[in-house]
Amino acid sequence: MFLVANWKMNMTRALIDEYLDVLSESSIWGTLDGSRIRIGIAPSHVYLDHVVLGIQNRDLPIIVLAQDVSTRTSGAFTGEVGMPNLLDIGVKGVVIGHSERRRFFHETDENVVIKTDLSLSADMVPIVCFGESGSQRKRGKTFSVVKSQIEPVFKGVKKARERGITSPFYLAYEPVWAIGSGQNATPADIHEVAKYVSEEFSWPDPPAFLYGGSVSSDNIRSLSSLGDLSGFLVGSAWLDPHALLHSADLVRQLNRPVREGVHVK
Ligand code: PEP
Repeated sequence: MFLVANWKMNMTRALIDEYLDVLSESSIWGTLDGSRIRIGIAPSHVYLDHVVLGIQNRDLPIIVLAQDVSTRTSGAFTGEVGMPNLLDIGVKGVVIGHSERRRFFHETDENVVIKTDLSLSADMVPIVCFGESGSQRKRGKTFSVVKSQIEPVFKGVKKARERGITSPFYLAYEPVWAIGSGQNATPADIHEVAKYVSEEFSWPDPPAFLYGGSVSSDNIRSLSSLGDLSGFLVGSAWLDPHALLHSADLVRQLNRPVREGVHVK
């Protein structure tokens, strides 16, 4: 299971050091050895370098992901952070198309495809987020919204695989109404969307799904038992390193086979 903490626009250098110290002092790592659990942290861009170094210095087997990447790779694009910048500092993955970027910063499906392709080509693990809003769900539009978001991504992944790119690829079902609301999607909600996305498109390899939206230590066990899931993308709850460790331990105890592994290089 791939467990990814999305820190969003939170944390400071001091808090990051405390967080990494808590992880480093935990005895969990021995128990995770040989398990299928991988942990990822997605800090804001400004702290990526600090987190990469902090993890290396503490010898923690954690993957660092960016919360976004530019569609451009270099040049006169003030304020942007490109894939070569992320690669240069040792980032291994990138969250793409998060609903907060779609909603507040005009992220488009076209850009999501470009960013996914850049990630796969760079052997950087992409986590492509998708999901419907509460009003779209109420109006029975869940599948049509999911289709419009996933279809272009599917075509891009297919082309990348045809070009011989084999990097791991994750989809994160993050219904907008569940994010930060305290109201998680039920296993049945997640299952019907995962089933739809798996069956509607002829993926070159079966898609690996993460779920995100109000995941906590209270619900992670029941959500983990869902065979469709390969992990979780979690915001608020995992701003607390103890909660991340507790969740990792709960998921470890289930010892469930998962669809896709992430390699830590
Ligand atoms: C997220 O923003 O990716 C997320 C899942 O947030 P939360 O866990 O706070 O709902």
